[in-house]
Amino acid sequence: MEDDEGPECGKPDFVLLDQVTMEDFMENLKLRFEKGRIYTYIGEVLVSVNPYQELPLYGPEAIARYQGRELYERPPHLYAVANAAYRAMKRRSRDTCIVISGESGAGKTEASKHIMQYIAAVTNPSQRAEVERVKDVLLKSTCVLEAFGNARTNRNHNSSRFGKYMDINFDFKGDPVGGHIHSYLLEKSRVLKQHVGERNFHAFYQVLRGCEDEELQELHLQRNPAVYNFTRQGAGLNVVLDIDEKSHHQAVTEAMRVIGFSPEEVASVHRILAAILHLGNIEFVELESNLEQGRLAVTEEVLVDHVAELTATPRELVLRCLLARTVASGGREVIEKGHTAAEASYARDACAKAVYQRLFEWVVDRINHVMEPRDRDPRRDGKDTVIGVLDIYGFEVFPVNSFEQFCINYCNEKLQQLFIQLILKQEQEEYEREGIAWQTVEYFNNATIVDLVERPHRGILAVLDEACSTAGPITDRIFLQTLDTHHRHHPHYTSRQLCPTDKTMEFGRDFRIKHYAGDVTYSVEGFIDKNRDFLFQDFKRLLYNSKDPTLRAMWPDGQQDITEVTKRPLTAGTLFKNSMVALVENLASKEPFYVRCIKPNEDKVAGKLDEGHCRHQVAYLGLLENVRVRRAGFASRQPYPRFLLRYKMTCEYTWPNHLLGSDKAAVGALLEQHGLQGDVAFGHSKLFIRSPRTLVTLEQSRACL
Ligand code: ATP
Ligand code: MG
Repeated sequence: MEDDEGPECGKPDFVLLDQVTMEDFMENLKLRFEKGRIYTYIGEVLVSVNPYQELPLYGPEAIARYQGRELYERPPHLYAVANAAYRAMKRRSRDTCIVISGESGAGKTEASKHIMQYIAAVTNPSQRAEVERVKDVLLKSTCVLEAFGNARTNRNHNSSRFGKYMDINFDFKGDPVGGHIHSYLLEKSRVLKQHVGERNFHAFYQVLRGCEDEELQELHLQRNPAVYNFTRQGAGLNVVLDIDEKSHHQAVTEAMRVIGFSPEEVASVHRILAAILHLGNIEFVELESNLEQGRLAVTEEVLVDHVAELTATPRELVLRCLLARTVASGGREVIEKGHTAAEASYARDACAKAVYQRLFEWVVDRINHVMEPRDRDPRRDGKDTVIGVLDIYGFEVFPVNSFEQFCINYCNEKLQQLFIQLILKQEQEEYEREGIAWQTVEYFNNATIVDLVERPHRGILAVLDEACSTAGPITDRIFLQTLDTHHRHHPHYTSRQLCPTDKTMEFGRDFRIKHYAGDVTYSVEGFIDKNRDFLFQDFKRLLYNSKDPTLRAMWPDGQQDITEVTKRPLTAGTLFKNSMVALVENLASKEPFYVRCIKPNEDKVAGKLDEGHCRHQVAYLGLLENVRVRRAGFASRQPYPRFLLRYKMTCEYTWPNHLLGSDKAAVGALLEQHGLQGDVAFGHSKLFIRSPRTLVTLEQSRACL
């Protein structure tokens, strides 16, 4: 890798474009991509294009080249951003965060891994054992989380199906001493159903194909994923075989061991996964002739035996939970009410999803437990400095969009709002620090869309909660009608009812939000059910009373008696909203760095940049807006010594050295000689350059020497 880039590689910073148009932006992006330059800055924001091939950009040598350098000293790179975040944290004791965004397959998770590797490589020169342990856990946690939270989708073979925010805590020496992971909205519906060509979470296939024969027998499992409803839906065997499950299984088991999962815990995890697979194969029949004993039976009783054995719960209780539910009938009285076959299938599915979700959350909690910082920094009142890394799902639009896309897109609205605010805020702060007058910059404020979703009482989430808490039959359709009534005049909301001529929406089913990133039509089908996210208390009690301590620990709420379960749990939507509000507050309190990932094509192939596809991403990531905001004030800013280092050879007063008292004065003389003094402002420590033309002129005179 070269330390410098020639003009044939395009502009290393989009701020230097002659004009900020989509055409110019795309041309530069494409040119750089063709030259293997997948990274480009917008000021301090890094734009990254997934190369879909191994490039010689990473590893110890590259890390050494970026270590301790300023952002602009080397070609744009993730390491430079990681280094900048690390230095800000270390030098100024500032909490920092790196926000990575982009659509599925754009390279967010890979970017987060490179950042972690950089941090691991440049810390702990004295090889302290505790720090090494923490680094090991940090690096290994990714592999475990990917096993349980990632799956093969049509858009990405290793797609993260949850949002992840990870804090790394550093002591006063700048060494990692702990960490904490927050996970957001696991796509648990995948446990039950996968689209054609897609798979369930990796963990299921890893157990099926990776466990030794003996363990598999104990789990009553067959190797073939096609045997199980939950693993055969989307994919034929050929899809399964092309991933080396066995070696992944070994790597995950080893990572779990290093992190500190006990062998008993790992065995429990395997049993829980097996129980879910067996549960998925249980089916129900309604028996007409057997009215007084309950009308329902399971088709294969042996599966109930397996589930009971693997979850260490009594067989009769498992069967009872599957066939009936307990309901409180006023006071302390409870009665048992038999399910219909449809109700039983619904309850079985809800149980399978919930068991997997609790398993995932438990894995995250276990990792957090071993990463909890042990030695607090006394100089910060026991508080460590932190670098946060956010790897979260990007804006999503499918042919049919449901509750999950609604949540994900709302999350992106919030992050976009924060992005614009922080970028502006940072600019403003820097101008103040440097003693330069600030001019207001116009930008699109998406607060009104965030408000449409989260406003108390009338916002979409509040209306949905209201619908969910209504007793009696409430349909998704009625929910939609209420939305129409509340938001008929909202500029970012519409539906077929409100716009009868728009045939791209269906009556009584769809509503549309005009997101900052584009229009998305949501189908309300399933919104109420997904938001309620209901699981019968019987299952919770059953699992809480398991003899397996690991499983039991996942179900503390199973302790409650049915007559005590009066308070409604928070809905999925409200929980998500609360977690987003907390996330944004957390990010806003830190000094942010941004990585904006772009997926070059839909075919996951190297060397192909599909222009239409990229344009769309550039638009919805708000990158042009970002360049404009950055340029509205000053396109470029450079500390005086760095500016001189680069351009002093273009002026007789500064070459080879100047005698002008200060670097600031020398820069003034240099600019005057070029006739460029009108386009700049002199800060206390930095030169601010308004137009990129000025830089181009300087670069040209440097090149002509
Ligand atoms: P999702 O939202 O679905 O989780 P993502 O943005 O996290 O997607 P990644 O899983 O990071 O996407 O990347 C998808 C694939 O692209 C990787 O499995 C890898 O094959 C390739 N890839 C991503 N970044 C790079 C890179 N810097 N170098 C080489 N290949 C890469
Ligand atoms: Mg990912």
